[in-house]
Amino acid sequence: MVDAHRVLARAAAITAPTWGLFEHLFPESLQTDENRSVWTEGTPFYEPLPPLRGETSADLVIIGGGFTGTSTAYHFSRRYPEKRVILLEARTIGNGASGRNGGHLLNGLADPRSHATPEMTRRVHETTARGIQNLIALIQRHNLAVDHQLGGALRVFTDAERAEKAHQYSEEIAPLGIAETFLTPAELQHKLNLQGVHGAILDPLAGQINGAQLTRSLRPILLEAGVAIYENTPVIRVEEGRNIQLHTPAATVKTQAIVLATNGYTTQLGYFRDAIFALHSHVFATAPQSAAELAALGWREHDVYSDDLDRISYVARTSDRRIVFGGGSNASYAYRFNNQSVYPGSPERAKPAFAAMKRTLQQYLPGSVGLPITHRWTGTLGYTLARNTLMGVRGAHRNVFYALGYCGHGVNLANIAGEVLTDLYSGDDERWRGLPFYDSQYLRIPPEPFRWLGYQLFTGLTGKAPRTQ
Ligand SMILES: Cc1cc2nc3c(=O)[nH]c(=O)nc-3n(C[C@H](O)[C@H](O)[C@H](O)COP(=O)(O)OP(=O)(O)OC[C@H]3O[C@@H](n4cnc5c(N)ncnc54)[C@H](O)[C@@H]3O)c2cc1C
Repeated sequence: MVDAHRVLARAAAITAPTWGLFEHLFPESLQTDENRSVWTEGTPFYEPLPPLRGETSADLVIIGGGFTGTSTAYHFSRRYPEKRVILLEARTIGNGASGRNGGHLLNGLADPRSHATPEMTRRVHETTARGIQNLIALIQRHNLAVDHQLGGALRVFTDAERAEKAHQYSEEIAPLGIAETFLTPAELQHKLNLQGVHGAILDPLAGQINGAQLTRSLRPILLEAGVAIYENTPVIRVEEGRNIQLHTPAATVKTQAIVLATNGYTTQLGYFRDAIFALHSHVFATAPQSAAELAALGWREHDVYSDDLDRISYVARTSDRRIVFGGGSNASYAYRFNNQSVYPGSPERAKPAFAAMKRTLQQYLPGSVGLPITHRWTGTLGYTLARNTLMGVRGAHRNVFYALGYCGHGVNLANIAGEVLTDLYSGDDERWRGLPFYDSQYLRIPPEPFRWLGYQLFTGLTGKAPRTQ
């Protein structure tokens, strides 16, 4: 099979000299749309705070109110209670990917380098497992109303050879203290009876969470800690310097440092245009089912599963027993020219995508054919070419902090980001050094129109192929 990642990387290298020209030919501007996901049903009385107006100043301004922004505001304000922290959100807290995802709270990273050596595998697992524990501890500490479960996550294999390889791998990593177990089709059948599956890896420490509730229920905690939060306040321009000036439609903020907590939207501020692209993914949710109805479908245990195909299906059973289904076909993913972060007419325009996704769900769970769909939505993932997350600090004055490019693993990792960036700010960052996402380099992606063409080529080449990692 053609290695599509290699082809893209080669194309990026060849087209790199044209970046300067195309950056000017195709400027980007901020685009947001309303979050229509099922997760916002859990925050029915949420009202945005008023926008920022006039002139003000701060020690740190966090741009973006998703997991990255709220976790940074949380950890930073606890470490530095005396500093003035402002969080600016273009629409509402949890309006981006954090409130629109598949709800999978997972260990590990999307980055293949996280398995470079057994020691790295162990370290990454330890870091992300601690991230899940810390997140649950935070929910308990503040008694947050956040639906979540830690009933285990499955990675299922649609091919016997890949299942056997995964089986062997689970045995290799057991001595590292990673308690993932292989389930044969017969063992799986009693827990989650999926058709066409040759085995699965169970991570018993992972689960499912409502990200809209998490980010929004943190708001009063942050306000109490002294963080000033302004919603419907898009940052439209950043002027870097020892003191950074931020411009919004009705305000100017002078600050010593900023955090880019804008993941899939970051390029629209002019940052990381050659590093990150916004990948649209479609998701739907069924009506809540009774426990007996889900059991009759074959879903008796574990919260989430994902498959081993490049157009990955990611599927969750929520606390109120809905099935949330994302991905699962070529049509259900899209890249829009010049990194547009809104899927036009969503979700109505995406009918073919949702039809294809329903067919995929029916292949796995044939009994799902008549399940009523109550919610359909799209969201943008921040992707990098090598699937590596980038966390660090940049700028001539080293005062532009960033954490982005989670490549579909941000539910856990973007909540860890707040600790990472706070440690980096304070210079106490020893424990993160050497991890694949920390101060990581990236492969450059081609500028437009090569990027759009490259994506079409990539999806054409990989289609339903197994993932290369
Ligand atoms: C459909 C979908 C399914 C996913 N499924 C999973 C999953 O199951 N498991 C998993 O681990 N990960 C998943 N992810 C990825 C995960 O949700 C993200 O990695 C994570 O939410 C990123 O959080 P964030 O805070 O960095 O970004 P976001 O949640 O996107 O937050 C960025 C915020 O910044 C705001 N903003 C942007 N620009 C500006 C500006 N100029 N000024 C002010 N505010 C601005 C936006 O409005 C937004 O609220 C999924 C993502 C999507 C889209």
